[in-house]
Amino acid sequence: MSQQNPGSARSHFPEFISMSDLAMFTNAAYFAAQKHRGQTRKGNGDPYINHPLEVLNLLANIGNVEDFNVLTAAILHDTIEDTETTKEEITERFGAEVCGMVLELSDDKSLPKERRKELQIEHAPQLSRGAKLVKLADKISNIRDAMENPPADWDIRRRREYIEWGEKVVAGLRGVNEPLEAAFDGMVERAVRSLR
Ligand code: ZN
Repeated sequence: MSQQNPGSARSHFPEFISMSDLAMFTNAAYFAAQKHRGQTRKGNGDPYINHPLEVLNLLANIGNVEDFNVLTAAILHDTIEDTETTKEEITERFGAEVCGMVLELSDDKSLPKERRKELQIEHAPQLSRGAKLVKLADKISNIRDAMENPPADWDIRRRREYIEWGEKVVAGLRGVNEPLEAAFDGMVERAVRSLR
């Protein structure tokens, strides 16, 4: 293979991290931790920040995503929807591209829950490539959570419906990252088997 493209090989990773990328990303991780402070995950009461960290880890280590704007959007992806964070704060600190992705990943909470779920299916194919990547990893994390730590009032049927909805959203995201799509499919397969 050609040596012309060092960015394509994982072993070259440290050569193309710029300090400013790393500084922005570190700042975003700290910012997200502060914003989600005191929040917990529904099922098992884990700190909320474990979820964006899982999404980030899936992107970096299964999806091999190396775009710092996408990784930064991943750690921030629930801040506008689930905390008091404004889009102005995100734009000012992390730039318009990151903010655009976070907005694409934020449901409009003024709408009823069922409508928001329909809109996620409708909007998925129109998302930017970066937002599609984060959403794919988000759905892997959400389905794993719904299987391993379902909220106490979720029966088997509710969990099954949740998986089916996730599959419909992900149908609109396909074509962006094979390893993440395979990880999603594997997760769904395990989940469906466990609910038989
Ligand atoms: Zn999320």
